[in-house]
Amino acid sequence: MAQRTLEVSHLNTSFFTERGEVKAVQDVSISVGKGQVVGIVGESGCGKSMIARSVMGLVKKPGKIVSGSITLEGKELTSLSEKELCKVRGRDVSMVFQEPMTSLNPTMRVGKQVQEVIAIHESLPKEEARRRTLEMLSAVGIPEVEARYSAYPHELSGGLRQRVMIAMAMVMRPRLLIADEPTTALDATVETQIIALLKQLAKDGTSVLIISHNLGVIAQLADYVYVMYAGRIVEKGSVFELFDNPSHPYTHGLLGAVSSLRSQTKVLQTIPGVVPNLAHLPAGCSFAPRCKECMAKCGSEQPKLITVNSEHEVCCHLIEGADEL
Ligand code: SF4
Repeated sequence: MAQRTLEVSHLNTSFFTERGEVKAVQDVSISVGKGQVVGIVGESGCGKSMIARSVMGLVKKPGKIVSGSITLEGKELTSLSEKELCKVRGRDVSMVFQEPMTSLNPTMRVGKQVQEVIAIHESLPKEEARRRTLEMLSAVGIPEVEARYSAYPHELSGGLRQRVMIAMAMVMRPRLLIADEPTTALDATVETQIIALLKQLAKDGTSVLIISHNLGVIAQLADYVYVMYAGRIVEKGSVFELFDNPSHPYTHGLLGAVSSLRSQTKVLQTIPGVVPNLAHLPAGCSFAPRCKECMAKCGSEQPKLITVNSEHEVCCHLIEGADEL
């Protein structure tokens, strides 16, 4: 099998607080191939962003990667020193954050911010670095790049600021781009443009891991989807399989909320209850307190991932039951 760009295997990331161990990521395995767009979807607080932070080596104390492996084109990242990780970040793997206004330096011209990424990783003559910066700003669809190079972040629209963030992430042509809620702060028109841009980057060979609570964004972008709940992957599959044949009650709930927003009735469907406190997870299935299908064993036994077909796996006792019939 061809080497995957990113392989995360049995990752466990926890925070050790005065109130106990908060298990933000539990036994998570994900894989992203070259030029593939992989989505992770789930509500806020279910651990999606912590996977991204683990890959980037950005889990800070009192958090730490407890166990598991993260490889980028075969290179193990969890054993790298901070100095070694600094070389990997921005050059081999980059991240685009949710809110460009808080991620960009408000006192620095945007062109200089992109150019600074080049300066960290390569010793290029200034003119060559500037040329490459202008090229990248243009490649992400920023018009009049010479003028925009000298603009401050507050002088640009939200969409242009997000494009600058993507240019910063892409200027070293990393193998993997992680986009954490990249369109959440944008209006619908700009969201469509950013989705088109991320699709194009994947077409050009960049592997993309997109993290979102928005199933609509995931449906438009991703080839493969992981559904996450309370720190675990509860369902995974190709985008067609997952949207055509959702099997986990949580995925049904997420899809129901989207389809109710689109329906004529305008009755907003929600999933009752909230994501459990990750420091005090219930025994058995973490979704049990919110699940309409909950059975006796759901409260005591953690379900395992069951293969539905070659493109689809689900972690639910309902599927185990169907398998036994
Ligand atoms: Fe619901 Fe049980 Fe499946 Fe959990 S294991 S999602 S509680 S049916």
